[in-house]
Amino acid sequence: MLVRADFNVPLKDGHVADDTRIRESVPTIATLIEEKAKVMLCSHLGRPKDGPDPAFSLAPVAPVLERLLDKELANRGAPPVSVRFVNDCIGYKVISELNSVESNTILLLENTRFYREEEKNQPLFSMALAALCSHFVNDAFGSCHRAHSSTEGIAHFRPAYAGYLVQREVQFLSKVAESPDRPFHVVLGGAKISGKLDVIDRMIELADEIYIGGAMAFTFAKALGYETGKSLVEFERVGLAKAMLEKANQLGRTIHLPKDIVVTDDIEKPTRIEAKPLDALGATDIGVDIGPLTRQACAKGLESAKTVFWNGPMGVFEKPAFADGTNAIAFALAALHATTVVGGGESAMAVKQSGVADKISHISTGGGASLEFVEGKELPGIKILEEDNQSNPAYHLGNR
Ligand code: ADP
Ligand code: MG
Repeated sequence: MLVRADFNVPLKDGHVADDTRIRESVPTIATLIEEKAKVMLCSHLGRPKDGPDPAFSLAPVAPVLERLLDKELANRGAPPVSVRFVNDCIGYKVISELNSVESNTILLLENTRFYREEEKNQPLFSMALAALCSHFVNDAFGSCHRAHSSTEGIAHFRPAYAGYLVQREVQFLSKVAESPDRPFHVVLGGAKISGKLDVIDRMIELADEIYIGGAMAFTFAKALGYETGKSLVEFERVGLAKAMLEKANQLGRTIHLPKDIVVTDDIEKPTRIEAKPLDALGATDIGVDIGPLTRQACAKGLESAKTVFWNGPMGVFEKPAFADGTNAIAFALAALHATTVVGGGESAMAVKQSGVADKISHISTGGGASLEFVEGKELPGIKILEEDNQSNPAYHLGNR
């Protein structure tokens, strides 16, 4: 059984700096071990440019995974396993390890991106991965929007199943994208409109209410003719922002822009921080957060929602002085009796930082992948799993 996990973790001095992604892979792996599958794990890590590069080796993941699995298997009353790292991901070295490995050992293969064929989804490389296993499990949701050998190509050659992480992502994100309980409210923020145009566009069609914060709000504010001072504005997108506001208008949707803004004179070394109405920004103001009136209005508005999707922080949340707006939205979502889904790399971080992550229905692990999913795009890595699942009614995770 070959499992495509998401071990694309940050490394610092050759050690795993944040083990969240490894932690999240544990339920699927532990279940397969309990089911006595012969488990091999593969993943990409970072963007190695030209073949094998020790700086991008997956070796540091092995001891961390082993420790986490120890704990999980002990909780389940199952015997521990050791995780053996193999410094290749295809070919003779892997196969000979596989043939000689003891039953209480699982294999962690080297970075799939050490082969350039991986990102080209080259059939020969996909076949080389498929040659290692009888079945394939994809649990790397964050990579499913890319048709690479280890996410999509291999699934042409072996029965391919979704791991628990992917199943959960699909369950929550399809609820948002296809059948949200209404009223369906959407909160959008973050740095830029670029890269999120399709999400905004889709959400204008789908959502009952849209709240916009973050720097994105200033491009919309500019489109309405407001002074935005020195706030982050995408001038080349102002026209598009205008078109979106018009589209929303035509469809009878309200896009709520911030009523007030926290402004400062310098993000790094602020000498003044104050809240101002959106229409009162001065030429030297930098907008860094939604203001208290906006926080209140959003929280009040969200109270009626039955489904909420949130992408993009409301301000420069990395600085505690400008994190209040983002925290307020996190608290508002946490208090709801509704399905609440958060997507996006920084948004997920922000929710964790706010301390209420466990009160959110689902925090997506995929940045780009979750956005593409809610846009209604088909993710190649998921599409191929669904086809296989349909053609194989005997599908279950423990299959080997
Ligand atoms: P996500 O990763 O959740 O999709 P983005 O990458 O779009 O979110 O945006 C996150 C970034 O947006 C954060 O680093 C945050 O500092 C920045 N940001 C939010 N509001 C502002 C603002 N008013 N001015 C500058 N940057 C902002
Ligand atoms: Mg981001």
